[in-house]
Order: sequence, then C-alpha cells, then structure tokens
Amino acid sequence: MTEGFGRVALPLPLAQPYTYHIPESLADRVTPGARVVVPVRAREMIGIVTELTETPPVSAAKDILAAPDLDPALPAPLLETARWASGYYGTPLGLTLRAMLPAAMWGESRVIARRVGSAETGGLAGRVLAALEQKGGEAPVSTLARALRAPVWEPLDRLARVGAVVLDVVPPATTGGERHDRVVRLTDAIPLLAEREQVFRRSPAQRAALEALEELGGGAPLRHLAGQLGLSRAAMDSLVKRGYAAYGTVEVHRDPFQDLPVVPPPASPSAAQLDVISAIRALPAGNGALLFGITGSGKTLVYLEVIRGMLAEGRGAILLVPEISLTPQIVSRVRGAFGDEVAVLHSGLSDGERADAWRALRRGERRVAVGARSAVFAPVKDLGVIVIDEEHEATYKNGEAPRYHARQVALVRTRLEQARLVLGSATPSPESMAQVGERLRLLNLPERAGAGKLPPVELVDLRTAPRLKEAKAVPWSLRLDEAVTAALAKREQVMLLLNRRGFATILQCEACGAVRECGQCSIALTVHETPPTLRCHYCGRDEPIPPACTLCGGGIHRMRGVGTQQLERFLVSRFPEARIARMDLDTTSARWSHHAILERVERGEVDILVGTQMIAKGLDFPNVTLVGVVDADTALHLPDFRAAERTFQLLAQVAGRTGRGERGGVVVVQTRNPDHPALVHAATHDVEGFLAVELGNRRSPAYPPHAALVNLLVSGEEETAVADAAGAVARWAGALVAQRSLAADVLGPAPCAIGRIKNRYRWHVVLRSEPETIGRLVRYASEKLLSVSGVRVVMDRDPVSLL
Ligand code: ADP
Ligand code: ZN
Repeated sequence: MTEGFGRVALPLPLAQPYTYHIPESLADRVTPGARVVVPVRAREMIGIVTELTETPPVSAAKDILAAPDLDPALPAPLLETARWASGYYGTPLGLTLRAMLPAAMWGESRVIARRVGSAETGGLAGRVLAALEQKGGEAPVSTLARALRAPVWEPLDRLARVGAVVLDVVPPATTGGERHDRVVRLTDAIPLLAEREQVFRRSPAQRAALEALEELGGGAPLRHLAGQLGLSRAAMDSLVKRGYAAYGTVEVHRDPFQDLPVVPPPASPSAAQLDVISAIRALPAGNGALLFGITGSGKTLVYLEVIRGMLAEGRGAILLVPEISLTPQIVSRVRGAFGDEVAVLHSGLSDGERADAWRALRRGERRVAVGARSAVFAPVKDLGVIVIDEEHEATYKNGEAPRYHARQVALVRTRLEQARLVLGSATPSPESMAQVGERLRLLNLPERAGAGKLPPVELVDLRTAPRLKEAKAVPWSLRLDEAVTAALAKREQVMLLLNRRGFATILQCEACGAVRECGQCSIALTVHETPPTLRCHYCGRDEPIPPACTLCGGGIHRMRGVGTQQLERFLVSRFPEARIARMDLDTTSARWSHHAILERVERGEVDILVGTQMIAKGLDFPNVTLVGVVDADTALHLPDFRAAERTFQLLAQVAGRTGRGERGGVVVVQTRNPDHPALVHAATHDVEGFLAVELGNRRSPAYPPHAALVNLLVSGEEETAVADAAGAVARWAGALVAQRSLAADVLGPAPCAIGRIKNRYRWHVVLRSEPETIGRLVRYASEKLLSVSGVRVVMDRDPVSLL
C-alpha cells in the first residue's frame, strides 16, 4: 500500500492546511470531514481533515495521533460548502471552518478518555486502563500521557476499537465556572416622576442609577451597570437601602428562548398562501424562490408549511432570521409548530450548548435549525430547505473573515444538497430581484393575511410643516402630535422610529464651532444622558462632557441632532400619562433585554415604543395603529451606494408594523426630502417602482447587481504607511488587470468615508467587473495581499457597504 497523507485544517490563520502522515491503524477513520488529533509545535490540537493525498509534503510529515469519532464530524456537503466559501471570499480554509463550527468542537478542545467496558490486555494498554481506573474511570488524554510518561494515543485507539473506552471531545476548561450574575431590580416603591426632584435632591447619582434601570426595563446585571454604564455602586446600594431596588441573582446561561411563549400556528393557509406553498414544493431540487410578500402577508405561515412538508418527507430545514434576539415572535411560532424538532441557535448559548445543538442536528435528533446568519452552516441531516426571512437585511453579511453573505452561501449549499431555497422579503434586495428567472422563481403575496390592510403613509415636509414650539430641538410637527394624541386617546399603541441613539448627535462650541470628535475615530462623539457622557459609536469609548470647549475655551456648548434619549425625554413631558418604552442599543445592551421590552408591548403595558431600526423588523402587534418616523433622512445622505436602498427598506419595514388588526393604522413620516425616490415610493408602498429607479441609478456608474465589487480595505496606525500601501495595492491590481487584459476597473486608492476607526487610518481600493473576473482577482489577491507588512489588508467581496 502507498503511504497516505491527510491535509488538516486548524482554526488558525494559515494560508494552507498542514499535511500529516496517516498511520495505518487510523486509515479507516481518517476521511475528509473527520476530526483528528495532531501535533502542532509543542501542543496537540484537534483539526479537520480536508483532503487525502498520496503526495508527501516537502518536509517530513508528523503522524496524525488519533481520530476520536466513528463518523466524520463534518458532513461532505458542508465541507464542500466551506471549500467554496474559502475560494469565493479568498479566506484560508481553516478560518472558514472556524466560522462554521462551534469552537468547542475542535482547536484547543481536549479529548477525554472514559472507561466503559473491560478488556483482557497487558502492556501499555493495560497500564492505560489501570491509570484510568485510578482516576475514577475518566481522564483527559494529556493527563494519562503525563502520568504514564508514554505516548498513549495508539493504545487508547485500540481500546476504543474493542469498546473498552470511549473518547469524548470537550471544550477547554472554562475559566471560573461563573454560573450566576448579580442583578439589581427596581421595586414597586420607586417615586413618581413628579416626586423625584424632592426625593433625590441631594443624590443625583441615585437618580441616574434609578433612571438607567428604568430604561433597561426595570433590572440589569450589576456587572453591566457598574462596568459598561459606569454607574456608581454606592448609589445602587443606597437605592436598595431606601427600598427602591433589590439585589438578586440570575443564572448566566439560562436559555431565554426556553421561557418564550409557544404560539400555535394560525388557522389554515389562505388560497394565496396555498398557491405559494405548492409552487415552492414544485421547485426543482437545487432551485429557489424569491417570496415577495408585503408586510403582514403571512410569510411566516408559508415558511412553516414548507418546513412541515419537508419534515413529512423525512428531511430537515434551516430558517434564518436577521437578528434572533429581535425576532422572538418568529421563534415562538416555529417552536409552536415543531416543538422539540427545533434547535434555536443563538448567541446566548454557551460553547458546550452550541456543540450539543450541533451534535443533535448532525445526528438527526433535531431537524429544524433556527438562527442568525451562521446557522446557514447548521449540520441539518438530509437538508430539504433553507428559508431566509428578510433576505435583504445587511446582517446576513459576516463582518470578519470569511466575509460571507448567508444568502450566497445558501444558494451554493442548497445546490450541493439538492435542497430548495426560499428567500422571503417585503422589500427584496436588488441582487435577488436580478436573479429572478435564473436560479430564483418570483412568487408574490400582494395582500395582507387576515383583516389587515397596508396603512396609508403621509409625508410631512419638515421644512414647511407647522411644528410644536415646546418641542424645541425635536422635529415634531403638529400633524404627528395630533396623530399621537388621537391614538393615545383611543388606548391604541404607537411606535416612533428615530434611527439615531443617544441624546444628541454632536456637541458643538457656540463660539468657535468646533465639534467634539473621538480621539481614535474620525467621527463626532454622541451626547448621552444616562449616565452623562460623550460616547463614540464606533469604538465605544466614553469621555466626560467637557465644561468648556477644548479648542477655544468657550463656555457654551450646543447640542445638535436629536437622538432617541432626547426624543423620549420630550415625550415624557408632552404625554405625561403615556407609558413609554425605549428600545435601542443602549437599553438592550444587557442580555435579552429586548425580550423584556417587547413582552411589555405585547401585554399592552406600553403606549409608546420609541426606538431605532431595532423596532422596525418582524414585530406583529395588532394594537399598534400609528407608526411615526421622526426623521426619515438620518441615513439618506451617507456616501454609500446603498443609502437610498437602506432608507427605503427601513421605511417600508417600519410602516409594516401597523395596520395589522381590525382597527387599521396610519404612518406619518417626517422628512426634509419628500421628493426623494426612497420617500416617494415608500409613501405609496411601491417596491417595484423604487427598485426600477434604483436599478437605473446603479447602471452608470455600475454598482451591484449590474457589477460585482471587491473592496480592498487597507488600515494601520500610520497614515502615510496606509496611503502608501493603498497605492501599492492599486498599482498591483492595475498591473494585473493590464497584464491579463481583464475588463475590470480599479477605483482608488482613496481614503474611506470613515477615515479612521479605533486609531487606525482607513483607505481602500475597489475593484469592479463581472463576477467571474472578480473571482479571478480575488484568487490572485488572496495569494498576494496577505504579505503587505505594517498595515492590514482586508478583502471584502460583495461588500454591503463601502463606508
Ligand atoms: P409577514 O411575515 O409576511 O409580515 P406574518 O407572517 O407575521 O406576516 O403574518 C401577519 C399576521 O397574519 C400574523 O398575525 C398571522 O398570524 C396572520 N396570518 C397569517 N396567515 C393567516 C391566515 N391564513 N389566516 C389568518 N391569519 C393569518
Ligand atoms: Zn472612537
């Protein structure tokens, strides 16, 4: 027999997998996708076999030490998907696999030997068994090797094969083993707003702590309050002493999805839903559908019925949602339909729980995986369908290498596994629309399910509309004021979108006009109120609000640009009877606080929900009869080719939150750009009209989907080094394009729109061509660009933004 070698990927930034020799005794188990234990420098690590080969490496190959699983951990189609992603995005295979696999499954994980049977054996194997016995029947393999001062993999493998021991892979020992978090909760005794001036006259810190807790839905972990928010511990102690708050504990890894109500599926599908469901079932294997269904058209029921059909055929399903913590309702519905068949993959899982979920899916014990973008890699057995809800969302793009887009991965994976793909959206992406007729079939749900109708949308021109004087800096038209008043009078609920968190966007010196910027990022600092600080929204750094201008010493600062905190402050005084809740990154930074806020809305305990784009997605509350968009223009003028697309999608999504019940609903949108196509078409719910304009605008100069892009982002701490390196990248690309006579544009080098983040200067070079040529350029670039010294070069294929 010829000697065999295996290439083994490790979760390390290596350009190529290492090659190891396969000992004959392991030949049957070392197959592509199998986990193996290999020596890496002085350590042992667990890697994944990516390929077998008979070609020996140039230098002597070390032996693979063990192969702990009976079946390959990674099924063949997933390995194939990883290989594709690695090539398409120009990311080493090891790093690609790192994004796909639970960390606990490989890498630094340890193998534990457990004695499960007996064996008549002497020699080293006998001593291994005896040593195991002595350790109480189980021990890490490394401990055994140390105890016996001998290599133990080979005898352990023999013992495993005769059923005397089993080898388990467990995550590396986690630090501390912290199981509980201390929390602070407000009691019912807290003073009314009107009394607070009096009660906290001498203790503003206590008031700040109490109000921060209120914002967080009544309670939060101490670590979060004292750490991230910088609140005073003494103040919290005093609140507790005065009976306004109490300390308690919660389990750190309590699975928040366990406690969600389970919602049974709605009545039977409508005729329109049935048509769409049967069209999806009739798709040829390996093909997909773009389900263009307006907000409230009942796409969820379509997904559930398609998944039910797959399960009936003995196949499994993946359902992707943009951000799982924001969409508890869809999780409730899936669990209501399929109960224990469902594995919910979310960021609150511990490493061990994530690995457990992976195993359960791999073995077919659970057949439906629900999660955010990385769930596109869930090892669902015999995959029948991947459903991507809100397929246009930018969250489906991964922000680090491999910079994959879950939609693109799903297209490839469903083809490899002969499964179906369903992309659902009320505002389909230009990319998906462009693929209709090729791999995607367009299916429509143009009406709302049940009683609802799409709400009328009124545009209010902020330049001319009469405003409420008391609102001061808050853009608040009389029209919006009257609509909110009317809804509250009828005991209906209101949602107000303002996609800008904090109190004010900038702090400006009245004398010299200087705006406080972050010392590390080229961006103005946002004014925050609880606690009072200036905060950078890029790097998260806080600094105190300066008493005077640091440039000219002027003593008067003005705040400009209203954020959600200021809006909330205004609403509290304008509508003192209303119960107001705010949902943005600042109120939801404690784990799962989203759920607490949304549950209060669902139970009718909130009259006005104020929030950033977080409140725009997927929520289904029939009693919301008014949606107000306080400032529709926050993202309209960003220097990015998707600015209009994002604005339109956000408006359409948030408008879709109302008109869902018998009482109907109305949307009031305040803007200074009522003639902009994103606003005009949002006002008439005209998605096709918007897409037609947008696709036209992207023709010349060409932007996706008319052209493919790759963004080469150069960053570093020295501005000139970054500019030089960006120049070198552009010259390299230009020369390559000329030499191979490729039809591709090299745009730049140029500083990025956001010129500096976290002390790193940013420049970029954008390559533009058709997809195949871009693919070739990515291949060349992935070999060459890793080696630019002193600066970092990041390659982002199919970027969702060029900021
Ligand atoms: P979408 O995701 O398309 O915005 P949803 O799936 O949230 O819409 O459905 C909107 C509402 O319509 C939900 O409250 C749902 O229960 C209801 N619904 C869906 N299908 C039907 C049906 N066939 N009959 C009655 N109500 C339905
Ligand atoms: Zn910063």
